[in-house]
This record gives sequence, C-alpha cells and structure tokens, in this order.
Amino acid sequence: MEIKAIRGFNDILPNEIGKWQFAERTAREIFEGFGFSEIRIPILERTELFSRGIGEATDIVEKEMYTFTDRSGNTLTLRPEATASMARAYLEHQLHTFDPVAKLYCIGPMFRYERPQKGRYRQFYQIDAEVFGVENPMVDAEVILMLIHFLKKVGLERLELQINSLGCRACRPRYREELKHFLLTKSFQLCEDCQRRLHANPLRIFDCKVETCHEAIANAPQVIDFICSECQIHFDQVKKYLERAELTYILNPRMVRGLDYYTRTAFEVVSYQLGSQNAVTGGGRYDNLFQEIGGLDIPGIGFAIGMERLVSLLPKDREFIQYPHLFIAALGEETMKEAYRIINQLHLEGIRAELDYEEKSLKSQMRRADKLKAQYVLILGEDELKRGKAVLRNMENKVQEEIPINNILNTLKEKILRD
Ligand code: ATP
Ligand code: MG
Repeated sequence: MEIKAIRGFNDILPNEIGKWQFAERTAREIFEGFGFSEIRIPILERTELFSRGIGEATDIVEKEMYTFTDRSGNTLTLRPEATASMARAYLEHQLHTFDPVAKLYCIGPMFRYERPQKGRYRQFYQIDAEVFGVENPMVDAEVILMLIHFLKKVGLERLELQINSLGCRACRPRYREELKHFLLTKSFQLCEDCQRRLHANPLRIFDCKVETCHEAIANAPQVIDFICSECQIHFDQVKKYLERAELTYILNPRMVRGLDYYTRTAFEVVSYQLGSQNAVTGGGRYDNLFQEIGGLDIPGIGFAIGMERLVSLLPKDREFIQYPHLFIAALGEETMKEAYRIINQLHLEGIRAELDYEEKSLKSQMRRADKLKAQYVLILGEDELKRGKAVLRNMENKVQEEIPINNILNTLKEKILRD
C-alpha cells in the first residue's frame, strides 16, 4: 500500500514555496526593522508548560494537544503555539537580566488536533512576535502597527482590526461570575461542551460555533463593561496610540480569544477575502502567563499569524516562482561536454540554468524549456560549436541571435541579469 501523509498534515510543494518564502522574508525584514530578534524554540515541551500557560479549561488544552509519553515516561506535547515556549526560554535563560525588555519573533510549525478543513490543519505554521517586559500601552499599539504594516506589505487587502479589553486578574473574576449568572438562565440552550464551559470557563462560550450557543450569548453582559479603572485607562491609551499611528480599528466587545492567558488588550485581524476561517491573526496582552508557568511577574504582548491563511490570500502571480533563467539545449556528445562546462559556470554565478540530461531531440528539449517557463534557451549545435557560436532564443519574444561561445558567460550574465 502506498504511504500517504497523515490527515491534517500538508506538504508545501516547490510551486507554492515562493509565497511562503516571500511572507517569511518580509516578516523578518519588517520585524527586525522594529527591533525584534529571532528566537528558535523546541517543537516538544513538557505538557505542563501548555496546560498551565494556556489554561486547563481551554479548547487547546482540553482536546487539541498532541500529547504523548516518551520512552522515559515524560509527558510531552508538540507545541500548539509559541508564546508559552518563548516565555519559558526568556525565563530559563534569564534574558531579563540583560535587558528587561525582549522583542522576539519565531516562525515555525504548530500542532493542534483539530478537525481538518480548509484553513484548519493539524500541523500549521505561525509567524509569532512577542514583547516581554513592558506594560505601557504604547507597546500594544506598536506591536499592532507592526502587524498591520506587515500584512499590508505582503499585499493583503480588506483587513479589519478588531480590538477589545479582557480585563485583568483584579476585575475579570467579577465579570466571569456575572456571565455565569446570566448564562445559567440559558443553560438549556447551550451545547454539551458549553454546559461544561459554563462552570469551568464561561468566557470560552463566546468562541463556540454552535448556533444555539450564539443565540444564548447574544445579550450576555460584556467584559468591557466590567473592567476596572486601571484596565479602562490602559485600554483608552491603547486606542489613543492606535489613532496617533493612524490605525483604524473597530471595537469587538465579543472577542475573547482562545487562550486563558490573555489580559487587557486583545485583537484580531480578519480578512474579508477569507471564508469562515477568516482570522488571519490574533493576539493580545498576557500579564499573567509568566506567573502561571512559575516565573516572575512579567507582562507580555504579542500576536500569531496563521501562515496557511496568510499565504492563501497572497496574489497568484508568477513573481513568487523561481523559473529557470536559461535552458541549455545541447545536441550531440561534444556539445554535451560544452553544455556541462557552461551550466556549472552559470550556477556558480547564481544563474538558474537547466539542461536535458537525456539528450533528447531539439524539439522535445524545446518543449521542456517551454514547460519549465525558461526565460532563454541556449541552443548548442555541433555545426555552430565548430564555428565557435551558439544560438540564444528569447522565449518571450521568440527572437533568436547567434552569440560567440568564448565570451558566453558574460554575454548571458549581462542579458539575464539585465532583464
Ligand atoms: P480559530 O478561532 O480560527 O481557531 P485561534 O483563536 O485558535 O483561531 P490562535 O491560537 O490565536 O488561533 O492562532 C493564531 C492564528 O493561527 C489564527 O488566527 C489562525 O490564522 C492560525 N491558526 C490557528 N489554528 C489553526 C489551524 N488549526 N490551522 C491553520 N491555522 C490555524
Ligand atoms: Mg482554534
């Protein structure tokens, strides 16, 4: 039986990779310009890091983690997100002793056992950026500005920035109780999962996709009406800084985000180009995460961009695909030797060249050059070679010219790199 990839795990093929590389390259450029440094963290962590960091009663921890026991009996989990690991690394290596403020980004695969569908996979990639050590609302706006700048720079359109405040450990418990109280009267309308959430983590009900739960929560009290004065001041400042940075936002008082560590500022960027899985990115402030994982009381804010959803929105043009600059069509044994010499030189100069190893007919080589979308074809025939010449065909305008072999590298470099 033929072995296939696991459900929800994708191959990213060479004809798609250009978009991925473009997105990653742009992220690196922009983030580094904003003073962020890359950090690479392991794919496996102790399960506790996520259960304590993300929260026991979240969908991720309850039912989406890839958790297993290794040969020594340790309970390990394939990372479902990067923030908790980044916080762990910051604490473990005492990065705060060098400078309390750390601006970090990380690009890589995450794993969640979800029902695979369009825009939702079991291995998916995120671009993640985090600032640790700053409570000032200025940094909330700075991070959001960087995110929007990036999304626009890669070519996304029809974006909407939604923001909310989720309160803090001082004011959220009161809201939770209020929400629970309200929902108890509607509990018959709630799905089985939400019945459970009602007691364990009622805020999660806002995230439920079930229609009757939506209805149940329609007139529920909103967290924004319960936040304490410190949170209110912080949120007002965030809005002010966003306005100063000329960013338009809409308030979405129903957005709660799927991880328990969020406090105060929460945000999402949705694209109206996407269907139901329309959140390209989400993020927020998490002033409790560090304490949950057993560390110091350090504030943080950041976001994660879903790369599959991002890439699906990028324009479909060819600029992302690296077609060959040149295809060498050689005919006969002697010319193959010459072709081998030329192609090696071209490759050393960074010119993408291809040749036909099978020594097929000229017609079939030209067909292959066409299929590969080569920009030029260099035809090496025995007669021409004897005269010290080769034929260069521009595949776009079909113009052919004879060029001398002795200076061929420079001639090709000049033409190809000029175009
Ligand atoms: P959703 O509400 O779509 O489940 P989420 O709130 O679980 O998203 P986060 O944990 O905030 O998502 O992750 C940030 C981004 O990662 C999302 O906005 C999305 O683009 C992407 N993402 C999350 N889960 C998946 C998945 N299973 N497959 C592909 N992309 C995903
Ligand atoms: Mg999710």
